[in-house]
Amino acid sequence: MKRAATETQSKKLYHYFSVISVTLWLYWLFILHHNQGTEKNMVLIRLIVGPLQANCFILADEKTKDSVVIDPGDDAENILKIIRAKGFRVKYIVNTHGHFDHVGANKAIKDATGAELLIHEGDAHVLASAPQHSRAFGMIPVSSPPADRYLKHGDVITAGEISLKVLHTPGHSPGGICLLEAGMVFTGDALFAGSIGRTDLPGGDLSTLLRSIKTNLMTLPDDTKVFCGHGPASTIGDERRENPFLNAESGFE
Ligand SMILES: [Zn+2]
Ligand SMILES: [Zn+2]
Repeated sequence: MKRAATETQSKKLYHYFSVISVTLWLYWLFILHHNQGTEKNMVLIRLIVGPLQANCFILADEKTKDSVVIDPGDDAENILKIIRAKGFRVKYIVNTHGHFDHVGANKAIKDATGAELLIHEGDAHVLASAPQHSRAFGMIPVSSPPADRYLKHGDVITAGEISLKVLHTPGHSPGGICLLEAGMVFTGDALFAGSIGRTDLPGGDLSTLLRSIKTNLMTLPDDTKVFCGHGPASTIGDERRENPFLNAESGFE
C-alpha cells in the first residue's frame, strides 16, 4: 500500500517535471503582420532538440491550424506533444539541409502526421547518408525516409496563410536552403547569430557559403528576423553590422 502510494507520488512528480521541462524547451512568438490589408495570424514555436541542440521550428496558421515543421532533428515525442495539444495539422516537414541533427525525427513526425517531407534536391544524398554521418560523430545512428518532393530555388511552400519562399544557400552543404516569410527568415546552418555554418564537412565550401549569404540574405531588410539552425535568433541588420565573418577581412565583399 505504502509502496503503491510512493509509486503514484513519483509518477506525479515525473509528470510535473516533464511538464516543466517541455515548457522550458520552447518559447512562443506570436506574429501578426499585414499582408495586402489582411492580418496573418501565425504562431512560431521553437524547440531545442537532440545532443547538438538544433532548433526545430513549428510554424502554424492559427486560424486553419495548418502547420509546417522545420528541422525536426530529434525528440519526436516533444514535438508531437505540442502538435497534438495545439491541434495543428502538419502539412509539410521541411529540412533546411540533410545533416543528421536536423532530420532525426523526420520519420516519426511523418508517420504520426502523414506530412510530406521536403528537402532541396542537392541534399538528397546528404539525407541518405545521415546514418554514417551520425555514427562518425559518435551518436546513435539516425536515419530518415527519402523526401517526397525536392525543392528548388524560388519554390513557395504554402500551408494556410503561411508562405515560405525557398532560397538555395549552398556552402554548408550542397543543398542547404533558407526559408523566407514576410519579416523573417529561417537560415538553417548557413547563418547564425554572430557566426556562419562550418564548411569543412563533405560538400561544404567557404566562398560558396559567403556568396549564398551575400546574395540571398544580406539583400533582405535590416529588420528581418533571423531564426538559425542552432542558438538564438538575430536580425539581418545585427548580422550585417556585427557578424565577424561578414566583413571584408573575412573575404566577404
Ligand atoms: Zn548542418
Ligand atoms: Zn546543425
